[in-house]
Amino acid sequence: MTVTVRFAPSPTGHIHIGNIRTALFNWLFARKNDGRFILRFDDTDVERSRREYAEGIARDLSWLGIEPDQTVAQSARFDRYDRAAERLKSAGLLYPCYETPEELERRRRIRLSRRLPPVYGREALKLTDDDKAMYEAEGRKPHWRFLLPNFSQDPFATRRTEMHWDDVVRGPQTVDLASMSDPVLIRADGTYLYTLPSVVDDIELGVSHIIRGDDHVTNTGAQLALFRALDAQPPAFGHHNLLTTASGEGLSKRTGALSIASLREAGIEPMAVASLAVLIGTSENVTAVTTMEELVALFEPTSTSKSAAKFDPAELSGLSRHLIQAMSFDQVAERLSGLGIAGHEAEAFWLAVRGNLERVADASVWWRIVKDKPADDATLTVEDRGFVHEAAQYLPPEPWDSETWRLWTAEIKSGTGRKGRSLFMPLRIALTGREQGPELAGLLPLLGREETLARLS
Ligand code: GLU
Repeated sequence: MTVTVRFAPSPTGHIHIGNIRTALFNWLFARKNDGRFILRFDDTDVERSRREYAEGIARDLSWLGIEPDQTVAQSARFDRYDRAAERLKSAGLLYPCYETPEELERRRRIRLSRRLPPVYGREALKLTDDDKAMYEAEGRKPHWRFLLPNFSQDPFATRRTEMHWDDVVRGPQTVDLASMSDPVLIRADGTYLYTLPSVVDDIELGVSHIIRGDDHVTNTGAQLALFRALDAQPPAFGHHNLLTTASGEGLSKRTGALSIASLREAGIEPMAVASLAVLIGTSENVTAVTTMEELVALFEPTSTSKSAAKFDPAELSGLSRHLIQAMSFDQVAERLSGLGIAGHEAEAFWLAVRGNLERVADASVWWRIVKDKPADDATLTVEDRGFVHEAAQYLPPEPWDSETWRLWTAEIKSGTGRKGRSLFMPLRIALTGREQGPELAGLLPLLGREETLARLS
């Protein structure tokens, strides 16, 4: 059996790091098992789903190196859901209900006051054809519930019905079908809730493993029953813990602040996002993993903790810096060339500046400083200006290399008596126009003698 997984977002907003955790768990699982990865847009809610969001999600995945083997949209598959719904209806497993939300709420309170579990009492099953005709005549439209198999003969005498599965992430799990209401599969306006379309697609697309957030554990009980009702062998399930903000709040597509798109725009490295999204809330330390292959090797679903994982966005910048500092020229050459950084000095330049960058894009600032002119963030005092003039006399002849800076400053020190910060800072300011930046030992050979002299004069 080919391992087949799917990532099934609703394209109703920008996806965030929590959604990406789900995508990556699936992707890594597929990669580990030589399997297939399907991107499925759960866009049965045609009002709220947007093509831009779907495109944005595909772009976010691709930025992280996730290229789906297949992409499907539920909005193109309604005929299949209709067929499955008809099948369930004719088997008596999908029944019409006419209660308003207020009626349901009233009944729920009554059940609670009688110390009964607040589940739906299946009152609609008692409706006669005349009752239904009366509701229809009133203009009421039914919503449709799936009859859970939690009874023997009499649907009003429910009994404990355990659904078991060996969760790929959480280990053995049990859900009691008698503890839940018959789920609504079709709303009164005829639209599908996610439960049935998801199962129909998982069957048709040959999904072997459903890996998703642990907010779906209870759904899994009902969905297992649905797979059986549709005569299908259920797939394996895995439920990972969810990410929350540092204050414990859940992440929402609506907040936007931690969207993958905003992280990308802020210049965070994709592998920083992937490393944190996968390793947080597991027994593995969160480190900056350089490649997806390494992450595949580290990924072990069973080492995921069962409680929610708090995550601090500030960690992303640290991981990203770490990755940039260790990035070889080959890894980044194409991106640098996109920033106009190319030619025979590009590699030496990259190695000189990478240790100092928050974002790869900032390399262009330093490229301009080296190739064009110093920044004008810092200026020299009159006295320091005199000192840098004097320092120019000690510049060694070319060729220059990474040793030149050390030799030059040793000469300046013995010639002028200056040392430490009062020696280095004026030189840095004269050469770069900034008080901080990459090691001058790396920048000096890139400037060359003529340009260095010009900046010191
Ligand atoms: N669209 C559902 C969600 O985002 C998919 C859940 C699932 O993976 O089955 O919650």
